Amino acid sequence: KHILLTGGTGLIGRKLTEALLSKGYQVNHLSRSPGKHPGVSTFLWDVNKNQIDDKALNGVDTVIHLAGANVAEGRWSQKRKEEIIKSRTKSIALIYNTLKNRAHKVKTVISASGTGYYGDRADQLLPEDSAPGTDFLANVCLQWEHAVDAGESFGLRIAKLRTGVVLDANGGALVKIAGPVKWGVGAPLGSGKQWMPWIHEQDVIDMYVYAVDNDTISGDYNMVAPQPVTNKQLTQAIAKVLHRPLWLPAIPAFALELALGEMSAMVLNSTKVSAQKIEDAGFKFSYPTLVWALTGIYSPNQTF
Ligand code: NDP
Repeated sequence: KHILLTGGTGLIGRKLTEALLSKGYQVNHLSRSPGKHPGVSTFLWDVNKNQIDDKALNGVDTVIHLAGANVAEGRWSQKRKEEIIKSRTKSIALIYNTLKNRAHKVKTVISASGTGYYGDRADQLLPEDSAPGTDFLANVCLQWEHAVDAGESFGLRIAKLRTGVVLDANGGALVKIAGPVKWGVGAPLGSGKQWMPWIHEQDVIDMYVYAVDNDTISGDYNMVAPQPVTNKQLTQAIAKVLHRPLWLPAIPAFALELALGEMSAMVLNSTKVSAQKIEDAGFKFSYPTLVWALTGIYSPNQTF
């Protein structure tokens, strides 16, 4: 296989690149800056200027679209919001426009999306055909998936993987949640009863590879572990695995809303997401439970 990865330099992209290379696949990156990833050919693009080095697509059969301005970085000003959306939608549209104008071998597009698609849904269990939410992140995911689906008119196989909070020791949400816990000042957020969709980074990588390798994977799939947990359960499990006490009261929702504004939705929304569809499609999770996942991250040599 010959894969073109957008966002191949990010938290998920770097590890996915390694996984694809170790399977003997050829990997190209499309990036905003010249890359140094060994074994990878990096090509440049500038989404805002509609510029792309179309050699990136030479010989490629599968595009994996991970690129997007990070939603957890910087304040959601109007300008930042536009960047968050356009970096996901205009980017894939630029690739499709390039494909329209040349001969190519692309058959499959696999794109990231987010469980933010569903918005704030109390205790409702959310399979893929649930209605979308109405807040900013839901809107981002809707526009993102819509832009990706435009490739259907080319007869491409398209899979969209609605990713939950990726648990990774090297970055992303876990580092932000575990930091205060390590310092003994961790606390649940808001009521602590809100459901937080999570997934171990290894399962994220395996699910992308599964989607590349299996032609039956098409449409939308939740990319979350099969065991939903609440914010309080997540915080408690992290404290337990790190052997730290959790003694502070929960940080009230109003304080988070005051401090984070609209971005507080990222920690206060309740989203109980189902993993049934991908399990029914034959995918096996290496880290189906939270304790297993956190132990794997923080004390991988522990035996059970
Ligand atoms: P990162 O933020 O680590 O990396 C995203 C990549 O996108 C960057 O490496 C960068 O590549 C590219 N990028 C950033 N800003 C822009 C921009 N303005 N225009 C074009 N490209 C840009 O993301 P992750 O690896 O964590 O996630 C990958 C995808 O999965 C993202 O789309 C993310 O929204 C989604 N996701 C991730 C979750 C998580 O918990 N990690 C949860 C839900 C969804 P370069 O610098 O090479 O151009």
